[in-house]
Amino acid sequence: MSESRILLYYRFTPLADPTSVMLWQRTLCESLGLRGRIIISRHGINGTVGGSLASVKTYIRRTREYPGFHDMEFKWSQGSADDFPKLSVKVRDEIVTFGAADDLEVDENGVVGGGVHLTPTQVNELVAERAAKGEDVVFFDGRNAMEAAIGHFRDAVVPDATTTRDFLGELDSGKYDELKDRPVVTYCTGGVRCEVLSKLMIDRGFSEVYQLDGGIVRYGEQFADTGLWEGSLYVFDKRMHMEFSDDATQLGHCLHCGSATNTYRNCVNDDCRDMILLCDSCAADPATAHCGSQGCLEVTSAGPRRG
Ligand SMILES: [Zn+2]
Ligand SMILES: [Zn+2]
Repeated sequence: MSESRILLYYRFTPLADPTSVMLWQRTLCESLGLRGRIIISRHGINGTVGGSLASVKTYIRRTREYPGFHDMEFKWSQGSADDFPKLSVKVRDEIVTFGAADDLEVDENGVVGGGVHLTPTQVNELVAERAAKGEDVVFFDGRNAMEAAIGHFRDAVVPDATTTRDFLGELDSGKYDELKDRPVVTYCTGGVRCEVLSKLMIDRGFSEVYQLDGGIVRYGEQFADTGLWEGSLYVFDKRMHMEFSDDATQLGHCLHCGSATNTYRNCVNDDCRDMILLCDSCAADPATAHCGSQGCLEVTSAGPRRG
């Protein structure tokens, strides 16, 4: 059996003709038998693709031949083309959808005016340094609240966001204004969302904004559960979550019985399918395998329909 891998990558760089980049990337992926999802905008590229080891190596080499992508970093993980339903290569307004395309300026070094990049080690050093002066560094979660419910940095601020589009409203709500003169470290899964989020925060008067380079993925690779990260990492493939060690704590709670869980499942009502945290036993019982809304409760308690 041949080996395979999944690649995760992004690069903010000005693309004068996103459509031609899209067509080139699509042809390249098709010729290599890769599957996954690539988004291209005038600000850069954001992708995840899977395929044979030989194919993903060729993909990296060919993609880096493009001047704007020559120093793009690729994160490797276990998986294959089969982890994706198909190949999707699209041009959009934004490579991450904050609804802020026109606020973003990008040059060959990346996003202009974003937060200072810190490596995982530098984040720990910053926290220790400030603690010695009696000052707290604030972790600001750049993901959706649902992702943060099963894992986040210690004492993190978790915005009330269902999608990335909700962040602008959250930042403008005034809720986080007391953080504007404090040190804030933004973090997300692999780093791409914080490139934009940290810039939006600086634009709104947050005075000391950092971003975790390589995101939770890189922090976890380096420190697992011995650092400032707590819980599980939500992931966007069929695994749903991953842990960095056997010592990971379960931060999520079952919607129905409150017991610890880190497993999201779909509401049993086919017309709903909302993602909810359920423990194994509540998920196994039809009376508790729903999301709790009145409609879903009625559907599941009605039992089999009579002809
Ligand atoms: Zn339960
Ligand atoms: Zn439901």
